[in-house]
Amino acid sequence: MKRNVSLAEISDGRLYKASDMVKADCGGCNGCSRCCHGMGNSIILDPYDVYRMTTGMGKSMQELLAASVELNVVDGVILPNLKMQGTKEACAYLDEEGRCSIHPYRPGICRLFPLGRYYENGGFSYFLQTGECAKENRSKIKVSKWIDTPDLTRNQQFTLQWHDLLHAMEERLTGEDEGKQQEENLLLLRLFYLLPYKGTTDFYSQFTERMEYWNEQIR
Ligand code: SF4
Ligand code: SF4
Repeated sequence: MKRNVSLAEISDGRLYKASDMVKADCGGCNGCSRCCHGMGNSIILDPYDVYRMTTGMGKSMQELLAASVELNVVDGVILPNLKMQGTKEACAYLDEEGRCSIHPYRPGICRLFPLGRYYENGGFSYFLQTGECAKENRSKIKVSKWIDTPDLTRNQQFTLQWHDLLHAMEERLTGEDEGKQQEENLLLLRLFYLLPYKGTTDFYSQFTERMEYWNEQIR
């Protein structure tokens, strides 16, 4: 999700690489669950999140959509996000003790927080959002350790590919008629989200196959 604010307004003014140290470590959150409440539709799921959640939890995307995930339009594209529910607007995966019940399978945005991604010149860096995490005096931690995602280099390549696909789709669909917008959005949802991922096969090879099919269909 794009934000129309300057980096200086929302960050400490620095850009970080995966190997840099950053003051992001909130020490296990220690009783706080602020960023699991009231997040609106901002915890958007990418295909790797869906692979991780469906294969890890043994649930289909359809089951997630029936319980904890909803669809919203983001920059002209229909994408799934974690649903906030109840009077406290809490994520469905927050347990009674205020802990994440799907910690090993939690989405990438939850892993990043309070970091964000800043895209420029065909790549991206990380930045530290200020005024978002409730914990003061966070410790320094290596960005890659904080994100806690295996094979981060490959994951970063996937993240860029996915970002570029969504950006191109948004540009292509601007000004298009409703039928064309619906057709492309349905293909995106079916191909990258609803078609089940195999837990026994590496995610990135499955994603590459689906990208090839997507590129054949979208010309
Ligand atoms: S998935 Fe876990 S970490 Fe992410 S918002 Fe929900 S409860 Fe919080
Ligand atoms: S606001 Fe900060 S300390 Fe609180 S749950 Fe989120 S990351 Fe943890």
